[in-house]
Amino acid sequence: MKISFSCTMCGRCCHGLRLPLSVDEASQWLARGGSVELFCEAIPWPDEPAPDNGPAAHKRRRSFPAVSGQLPIRVIVSLMASFPDACPNLLPDMRCGIYDERPRACRVYPAEVNPHVPFDPATKLCPPDAWASVATLRDDTGAWTDPEVARSITAMRDADARDARVKSRLCASLGIDVAGLSNEATVVHRPLSERLADALRRAQRDDTDTGGHRDWRLASHRRHTMQLLAQASCHAVDATALPDALAFLGFVPGDEAATGA
Ligand code: SF4
Ligand code: SF4
Repeated sequence: MKISFSCTMCGRCCHGLRLPLSVDEASQWLARGGSVELFCEAIPWPDEPAPDNGPAAHKRRRSFPAVSGQLPIRVIVSLMASFPDACPNLLPDMRCGIYDERPRACRVYPAEVNPHVPFDPATKLCPPDAWASVATLRDDTGAWTDPEVARSITAMRDADARDARVKSRLCASLGIDVAGLSNEATVVHRPLSERLADALRRAQRDDTDTGGHRDWRLASHRRHTMQLLAQASCHAVDATALPDALAFLGFVPGDEAATGA
């Protein structure tokens, strides 16, 4: 379906965000004095999926292999600039203060990077008049017609794939080994900015080190999930027992507390 769109400069997408960054962008964000968090999710990966499984191939490209106990997993680490109010780069007139160097995610919005997520304007922050434009964002074939949007989507996907090994080394260097179960939750790690910047530099330099298949712990807030993880001989950890330094974000309601009777 054709999508019409023109940005109204309302600034909503520059407020209260978690902005995904590539490794290069995270280093630049930290150098400007911003803070970056690591959102960690793990996908059980007992077997390789069929070659024509597009969504699985997408996840595989942006993840790195690891184990949890005896279960093979793949870990997706997203580097996120988080700000509860206005982005630190937003100018009072709603223009971007680093426009020429803004992250790719800012160039792409409101388009979708993941080709397996259906595009739905209702899920976007843009006001109704932005969708009443004569300009086209996506044509009838599903192609993004704005050249910068199309270029940035490709660049984001390429960076995701390129960065996966760097993120494996980064987590090893920072001692990060707890993730949420993908689609259920994510675990947020918040290393000090200086330490993270230094670890990012080292992880980018040392491209001979694969990081190995490290042993990760999977955190859950649901008793049923904990039971399944135990049956699969995983290293499971109750989300309520995580150290204060880690934030646990559950995407699905905890129908029963992990430690419930
Ligand atoms: S970097 Fe610029 S475009 Fe991106 S959220 Fe911040 S102000 Fe908005
Ligand atoms: S929310 Fe949409 S219309 Fe508003 S500034 Fe962001 S991209 Fe433009």
